[in-house]
Amino acid sequence: MVQGEWDDLRSQESGVRIQNGEGENANSRFKGSRVKTKRSSRLFEKAKGVIPGGVNSPVRAFGAVGGYPHFIQKASGAYVWDEDGNKFIDYVGSWGPMILGHAHPRVIRAVRRAAGSGTSFGAPTEIEVKLAELIRSLMPSIEMIRMVNSGTEATMSAIRLARAYTGRDAIIKFEGCYHGHADSFLIKAGSGAATFGVPNSPGVPRTVAAETLNARYNDLESVRALIDQRPSQIAAIIVEPIAGNMGCVPPRAGFLQGLRDLCDREGIILIFDEVMTGFRVAPGGAQELFGVRPDLTTLGKIIGGGLPVGAYGGKKELMAMIAPEGGVYQAGTLSGNPLAMAAGYETLKILSARRRLYAELEKTGRRLETGLRNILEKLGKPYTVNRVGSMFTLFFTEGPVVDYNSAKASDTGKFKIYFGEMLKSGVYLPPSQFEAAFLSSSHKKTLIQKTLSAAKHALERV
Ligand code: PMP
Repeated sequence: MVQGEWDDLRSQESGVRIQNGEGENANSRFKGSRVKTKRSSRLFEKAKGVIPGGVNSPVRAFGAVGGYPHFIQKASGAYVWDEDGNKFIDYVGSWGPMILGHAHPRVIRAVRRAAGSGTSFGAPTEIEVKLAELIRSLMPSIEMIRMVNSGTEATMSAIRLARAYTGRDAIIKFEGCYHGHADSFLIKAGSGAATFGVPNSPGVPRTVAAETLNARYNDLESVRALIDQRPSQIAAIIVEPIAGNMGCVPPRAGFLQGLRDLCDREGIILIFDEVMTGFRVAPGGAQELFGVRPDLTTLGKIIGGGLPVGAYGGKKELMAMIAPEGGVYQAGTLSGNPLAMAAGYETLKILSARRRLYAELEKTGRRLETGLRNILEKLGKPYTVNRVGSMFTLFFTEGPVVDYNSAKASDTGKFKIYFGEMLKSGVYLPPSQFEAAFLSSSHKKTLIQKTLSAAKHALERV
């Protein structure tokens, strides 16, 4: 894959430019298959007239795989149905929140019950306290927590807090990690270990970009080099403890602990962005799985049970600086929304009561991974499968995939064929090589078997 494609992909993520399978007959993908697209394609045409690119978040547009996005009508368990009546086994899971599968009866009941009592009050409610206490009990690095409305808000606010606490302006992130669309995060490194970031979205001020430094994932040396270039100027290191936004890329042994040690030595705030991994990979998130305690954690997705939520939390000493307890301003009309709190609380209650659920997800994940590896081996195709628990990616490269550079070595043309073939066989994968796929507790053995036979068929055609 060439750099330009990666840029397109990232800029889609950042909302800059969308390509909708230019020059391609969208329906050609489905020639000879039973998949229908009439309603989705009509809706997409209508949507494009009124919503930029026809979607409310760029990757949904299928820009990286061509054709029309499927407009979803309903979902249940591991399945989604589109407006044309096609039924798919879903590995997007709303990009992470649906760890229990779609429309879990208890979660839906909790949301219905909450809605019956009013949808928003702009005043505190008991359920906010209950969810905050439950999160704190599951993730002990979080002594205090503030609810917001999205992962972006969470990371943006955590950075502001780290800057306020340290009195420093610069932050270090990692190439290929995504932390939402706030100005400070839409930056990538220039060539090599650039000192000053370059914005990769128009509209991001250069002065803001200059304060975001990009290191290489799984490479502590690159972090040290940046710290040396800006001594005593780094407020925070923010990292996806398992990267999910360049496809699934696990941390190497010692990487997260190395970051912890560097932060301790240099007085830098360590932020684990667990928007994706929080309550996904272990009852206490990636920090529990790898035994490394960050100063601040950002959350989203699962803690909202499919409703719009984010949160950031951590050491009391830091969190006490947030308004109105302290002077660091951050607010939200709908923050702690009762429907979102009810959905999140019910989801976390189910997860915390059924701890073996994580062992089951691991077993399902292993079954899928092993199956894929066997198929690849039999076909003599040396592609790479990365997986942590219920997050996984099949990269179309020999690998190993350990960072942004090795991820972008993937052949996105091959991914596109694979994606299309899987869709034809009724398997809905994330429509990008650089997004992790997600399993849920509804992905039972028979569905994994169906997925694997679809994968065999698809990989034979790649
Ligand atoms: N951080 C991570 C690790 C994410 O994966 C995402 C979204 N995929 C975000 C932050 C941003 O969250 P949101 O889309 O809710 O703003």
